Amino acid sequence: MNAEDKNYDLHSHSTASDGELTPAELVKHAAEKGVQVLALTDHDVTDGLSEARAAADACGIELINGVEISVTWNKKLVHIVGLKVDPQNAALQAGLVELRHTRDGRSLKIAERLAKMGVEGALAGAQAYANGKILSRTHFAQFLLAQGYVKTMQGAFDKYIGEGKKGYAAGEWTSLADAVSWINGAGGVAVIAHPARYQLSATKLRELCGEFKELGGVGIEVVSGKSDPLEVRNMGEYAQRFELAASMGSDFHGPSQAWLQMGRLPPLPKACRPVWQCWS
Ligand code: AMP
Ligand code: MN
Ligand code: MN
Ligand code: MN
Repeated sequence: MNAEDKNYDLHSHSTASDGELTPAELVKHAAEKGVQVLALTDHDVTDGLSEARAAADACGIELINGVEISVTWNKKLVHIVGLKVDPQNAALQAGLVELRHTRDGRSLKIAERLAKMGVEGALAGAQAYANGKILSRTHFAQFLLAQGYVKTMQGAFDKYIGEGKKGYAAGEWTSLADAVSWINGAGGVAVIAHPARYQLSATKLRELCGEFKELGGVGIEVVSGKSDPLEVRNMGEYAQRFELAASMGSDFHGPSQAWLQMGRLPPLPKACRPVWQCWS
């Protein structure tokens, strides 16, 4: 079997950040769904990788060490995935520590804003869902949902904590240049995560791709969890135009996302160069 025939999922989350499954459960779930090569890419942390590695060795799935880094680009939150990073790399880890401080400060602000909107106890409530791990807006959304403020997770983002909503606090994340340099410095490959989700104009997305490439970025997610055929084709064209390799990942966060099944991503467009050719 050549590498192209494998079932790849190069973007996923565990309880080390805002996923629902422990790293071991996630790896097992992915293997059961037919994934053969899985990247664990938790937000701003690599703590889940060693547990995932042990589970992957046990069930015969190939694990890629990954991370998803929060970046502020053009005043917007953009995510850069690092694949094949060395989790021991000191500069990468120092950067991630810094980002987690930013996260803590931002969580306080979100809780204050929610209190002004009449939602009390949001910080402790979200922390209970994060269970001592990375605190994310996902956990605030879980709290808002459980307390009956909203009927769905999406509702929590639409009404309270989505970008630009009253409960949202932007946070000063790291720069695109730093994220790419940490990933490259840790021997990894930098990939623009879910490019269609930032609601950037075509001009801005071209700017992002151009800058990213210039800084040493390597790939872009042409296939992401929710992408439809039109989006795949469109992002495939960005990949070709900017000579970026194409990645694919579900961005799986857990079984409660009933619409998202692991192991079922559509193939990359034929004209794209798959990102795994960078390392295989
Ligand atoms: P944070 O990194 O704390 O800003 O949280 C961002 C996370 O919130 C993303 O990684 C998603 O997992 C989640 N998220 C963002 N938008 C939505 C949405 N509309 N519905 C559900 N989850 C979302
Ligand atoms: Mn997430
Ligand atoms: Mn993301
Ligand atoms: Mn993600």
